Amino acid sequence: KNHRHEKDSETNVQVLLRCRPLSDDEQKSNVPKVVTCNENKREVTVMQTLANKQIDRVFTFDKVFGPKAQQRSIYDQAIAPIVNEVLDGFNCTVFAYGQTGTGKTYTMEGGMRTKGGDLPAEAGVIPRAVRQIFDVLEAQNADYSMKVTFLELYNEEITDLLSPDDNSKPMEEKQKKPINLMEDGKGCVFVRGLEEESVYSVNEIYTLLERGASKRRTAETLLNKRSSRSHSVFTITVYVKETVIGDEELIKCGKLNLVDLAGSENILRSGAREGRAREAGEINKSLLTLGRVINALVEHSPHVPYRFTITPCSCAVQNLKDMYLILCMPLGIVYCFRDSKLTRILRDSLGGKTKTCIIATISPSTYCLEETLSTLDYASRAK
Ligand code: ADP
Ligand code: MG
Repeated sequence: KNHRHEKDSETNVQVLLRCRPLSDDEQKSNVPKVVTCNENKREVTVMQTLANKQIDRVFTFDKVFGPKAQQRSIYDQAIAPIVNEVLDGFNCTVFAYGQTGTGKTYTMEGGMRTKGGDLPAEAGVIPRAVRQIFDVLEAQNADYSMKVTFLELYNEEITDLLSPDDNSKPMEEKQKKPINLMEDGKGCVFVRGLEEESVYSVNEIYTLLERGASKRRTAETLLNKRSSRSHSVFTITVYVKETVIGDEELIKCGKLNLVDLAGSENILRSGAREGRAREAGEINKSLLTLGRVINALVEHSPHVPYRFTITPCSCAVQNLKDMYLILCMPLGIVYCFRDSKLTRILRDSLGGKTKTCIIATISPSTYCLEETLSTLDYASRAK
């Protein structure tokens, strides 16, 4: 029984580490590297000099991807199996966590634009997941439909990255369109006012993605590095018609949440200085909570997730509106849809079984040493 418990824990939460290469500028100015990756041993070594002594610290992860790792190999090795779970009707979440500038957005989005239907080599997790879902369902000749949402959580506010542009309004106003989270008393979460786009082809999703990503970039330039303080959440929900019993259709539903978390440096700095900007403090608390929740999930796997939802979520909701959403996802809380029949099917088919994958990103540069160690500490604790 113990053996099974261990095995399930391993598969329910996975922590990967990715170290980006030095940028061209860093290479030109000979920035020293302090990180080495051993992909075979799944180890990351950080060289730290303390009181003139070199101390190596070694961290182990489920998978390690060094600076040369291609987008495709990360996807094939780590994400494709998760997407298959989604197609089997499970609820899965992939987080990117790390300091600003270490490659979270590159890993999640990368290059999203397609060339004649082909994905570019730099395409990240989101476009590849979309492609895999379409390819598998098309190959099965399945009767399916798919919905996507793309939102940004910034300073306790949710921005819908897919809402149609209204150019008659100034940017500030557009950003402030309120979207509410509601709870139905059974632990289900509604995201009220969010645009839900139904998509019918892979190219349609790519167009949406490009729209959302560029909206996020625009907001970033206007609001001063906003993305380092915001989370973005891209969600794909897939409905596959399985059988028809009498006049009831049985629909298998799976959900994939792809989350680009706020820069980890905001968390740590604000943690050090008490009572700083409320915004940073909340991100901080949120991520600490997330770490704790993931630990609990690992420890109590496999059956706790669904029950577990209620406690952390209802305490989180008192003050952390944004985190409420984030917390719910790895815990298998299902967003309710207005169609109650579908809701019922959703709740039954998900049953609280979830898979979570955290991709921790770091830079090899000596100038990032402190943040790198914090990320490694956090990520290995999350495991
Ligand atoms: P973050 O989202 O964590 O702030 P970005 O994804 O924006 O970081 O990455 C910062 C810069 O580094 C970008 O120019 C990005 O293209 C580049 N970059 C990040 N990771 C890699 C990688 N693995 N290979 C090549 N370039 C990368
Ligand atoms: Mg980013």
